Amino acid sequence: MKAAVVRDNSDGYVDIKDVDLRPIENGEALVQVEYCGLCHTDLHVANGDFGDQAGRIIGHEGVGRVVEIADDVDNLKVGDRVSIAWFFNGCGHCEYCLTGRETLCRQVKNAGFTVDGAMAEQVIVDAKYAVKVPEELDPVEATSLTCAGVTMYKALKVGQTKPGQWVEMVGAGGLGNLGVQFANNVFGANVVAVARGNNLEAAKKLGAKKGIDYRTENLSDKVKEETNGGAHVSVITAVNPIAFDQAINALRPDGHLVAVALPKGNMDLNIAQTVLNGIHVEGSLVGTRQDLKETFQAGAEGKVKPIVHTRKLSEINDVIDEMKNGKIVGRMVIDFTK
Ligand SMILES: [Zn+2]
Ligand SMILES: [Zn+2]
Repeated sequence: MKAAVVRDNSDGYVDIKDVDLRPIENGEALVQVEYCGLCHTDLHVANGDFGDQAGRIIGHEGVGRVVEIADDVDNLKVGDRVSIAWFFNGCGHCEYCLTGRETLCRQVKNAGFTVDGAMAEQVIVDAKYAVKVPEELDPVEATSLTCAGVTMYKALKVGQTKPGQWVEMVGAGGLGNLGVQFANNVFGANVVAVARGNNLEAAKKLGAKKGIDYRTENLSDKVKEETNGGAHVSVITAVNPIAFDQAINALRPDGHLVAVALPKGNMDLNIAQTVLNGIHVEGSLVGTRQDLKETFQAGAEGKVKPIVHTRKLSEINDVIDEMKNGKIVGRMVIDFTK
């Protein structure tokens, strides 16, 4: 079967190779991939940024149908549509796995990074960790919900977002535009988007009540003004440490800053302000199986709609170039059905 594999020199591109998968073992299922989205994380893996992964099949935004299950698998059957996410599996018995925080498991495996991923015609999954995709949900859109969607849904949960609150969405690209939809349509919150240009316009069309250009002078004051006293929750998807400092200063007392983006460097956290205003600062990393199930449900109900376009596997290195050059709006999804 054909698969997109990290090159020996980890130059940031992939080779399309014929790969033979090993037979499935106890607890596993074989999935015939229908679609797999290409994510910036895949580019980091292909570039060796997280260590040498030469020969690894990339892909963690996969959706496909189960074609074979091991004898002991009872939670999936042949024909089920399932997802292959970055959170591939956890150990199942540590304090994090046992308390609904499985993505923080220290033995975590990640699809397309520490195990072979879904940018291939077939992929082996751990049956207990392959979250089913509802039949009402478009499978191309589901690929994007598997990664960006669940990440934003989880971040809003981590921020304890409540109906009627103000959510500041900093950055309105691939993650942020889904964040606006979740905040608005699932959590019933009001969104102030901080971005610029087309992304800002898109955020407003998707339901952001207010939009502020991030180059505005005294940005934090402007956010406070627009939200009658500051954001209850600020979710940062912008890859710039300054965005974090500005967002902290735009929170109202007892506000939550939820970090999603991974810029290099530190944020500037005033200790007195943190104490006196009861500020919460939290990191949020993808989502659990239950989070993903809920994310898919929101998609199936039409509450969130990712922007997706399909491409052929043979074009994957072109897509990588387009991503590197920032030419893509939404997500490019490789179509394995043709
Ligand atoms: Zn991803
Ligand atoms: Zn664990």
